[in-house]
Amino acid sequence: MQDSMLDLQGSAPILTTVAIKGAPGPSDRVIDVQKVTRLYKLGSVEVPALQGVSLAVERGEFVAIMGASGSGKSTLMNILGCLDRPTGGHYFLDGEDVSQMNKDQLAAIRSRRIGFVFQSFNLLPRMSALKNVMLPLAYDHGQRNGHGQSPEERARQALDVVGLGERLYHRPNELSGGQQQRVAIARALIQGPPLVLADEPTGNLDSKAGEEIMAILTRLNAEGVTVVLVTHEPDIAAHARRIVRMQDGLIVSDEVQP
Ligand code: ADP
Ligand code: MG
Repeated sequence: MQDSMLDLQGSAPILTTVAIKGAPGPSDRVIDVQKVTRLYKLGSVEVPALQGVSLAVERGEFVAIMGASGSGKSTLMNILGCLDRPTGGHYFLDGEDVSQMNKDQLAAIRSRRIGFVFQSFNLLPRMSALKNVMLPLAYDHGQRNGHGQSPEERARQALDVVGLGERLYHRPNELSGGQQQRVAIARALIQGPPLVLADEPTGNLDSKAGEEIMAILTRLNAEGVTVVLVTHEPDIAAHARRIVRMQDGLIVSDEVQP
C-alpha cells in the first residue's frame, strides 16, 4: 500500500491521508467499458441515453468528458461509478465485470474503490463537515486504520488536506459553495479510492472556487489517483490530459491534449 501525500500548502507537514489501494500493476486498465447501452423507460417512452459506448481508461489518467446537455454524460458517469447498471454491454472495473452485479455488490465496490463527487455536493445539511466526511466510515464501527487513526482523526486529516482544517464543525449552510464541494471531496477521499469520478464538480461554483477544486483534483492525479471528470467548461477541461466528447449517447471524439 502506498501513501499519498496531499499537501496543498507546499510547506505544511506531510499528510499521510489517502492510502491509494491497488498499486500500479501489469493490468493497468482501471475502466474498460465495452459497447455499453442504457435505455431509460418512462411509461411507454424509451430514452436511449447511451447507444453503444466503449471507453478504456488506464490507471493514472486524467480524463475530461464533455458534450451538450442530454448527451449522456451523467448516465455514463453513474455507470462508471457503480451507481447504475448498463442495459447492454460490459463494464470491467479493474478487470472485473461489474455490469451484472446486484445493488449490494455494487455498493461494496463503490465504497472501497470509487470516490464520487456531484455537482450539487450532496452533503447532509444537519451534520458538521467532520460528520459528513466520517459518513463513509460508519460501517467501520470506530475501527482504526493501518496508521492507527480513528475515523475522526482520518476525517480531520482529510479536511485538512482540502484546506478546511479550520471548518470542522461548520454545517453545509455555514460554508461557501467551494468549501462545501471541498467537504464533498474529502468525503469521497476518506477511503482512499484509486478512482475519483466527478460529474460537473465546478458547475455550481464561481471560477475561483472552481480552480481550487481543480487544483485538488490535479494534485490527486499527480499522486496516482485516476480522475474522470465531466464538464462543459473548456477552462476546466484544460486541466485534463485527455478529452472525450459525447453526442447523442455516443463518444464522438477522444483526444490527448498536446
Ligand atoms: P447529460 O449529463 O449529458 O446532460 P444525461 O445522461 O443526464 O445527460 O441524460 C441523457 C438522456 O437521458 C437525456 O435525454 C435525459 O433526458 C435522459 N435521462 C437521464 N436520466 C433519466 C432518467 N432517470 N429517466 C429517464 N430519462 C433520463
Ligand atoms: Mg449531467
